[in-house]
Amino acid sequence: MLNLVLFGPPGSGKGTQSEKIIDAYGLTHLSTGDLFRKHLGEGTALGALAKEYMDRGHLVPDEVSIQMVEHKIGSTKDSQGFIFDGFPRTTAQAEALDAMLQKNGMHISGMIALDVPKVILKERILARGKTSGRVDDQEEAKINTRIQVYLDETLPVAAYYEKQGKFHQINGVGKIEEIFNQITELIDGY
Ligand code: ADP
Repeated sequence: MLNLVLFGPPGSGKGTQSEKIIDAYGLTHLSTGDLFRKHLGEGTALGALAKEYMDRGHLVPDEVSIQMVEHKIGSTKDSQGFIFDGFPRTTAQAEALDAMLQKNGMHISGMIALDVPKVILKERILARGKTSGRVDDQEEAKINTRIQVYLDETLPVAAYYEKQGKFHQINGVGKIEEIFNQITELIDGY
């Protein structure tokens, strides 16, 4: 089983690369952002709760995200592995993920981090905002908040996996196909 964490700041290309990885390796995509947006679209209580945080560019409380991921893992049968996209976003989430995987006889194979400078992130998110309809993609102030939250709360997750010898970083600027090739080289080494 191959279980990957795709890591990087907002706008680093996790969603784009996830799709390509899924096509190539048949993994189950687990994007907490997508799951929250699905709940929002379906008008669930969880969606309404998440919206309060997401629209401001803040993180949804850990227990909410962790429970949602646990449910998704538990309800997915016969998976060849997962690609975690946008999760774990805090050290507490990383610890919870390790614990829930261990309970199911699974573990993280590796973390692949996409490195993209802040100016490019902002350009990409604002461009995406023109078509994504996402409230959190529209205003520069919200984008700055998301990047700051990433630096303060999410970046420590990289050190968490580095300690386990599972952290790998690649340049996230360049052609989508070239970035994907670097990812497949790493995956094929796992
Ligand atoms: P991006 O990576 O572009 O910021 P996502 O779709 O991954 O987009 O996340 C959008 C928003 O959803 C985040 O800003 C946050 O509010 C919420 N969110 C997603 N994943 C998590 C998580 N693991 N923990 C807490 N909040 C999350």
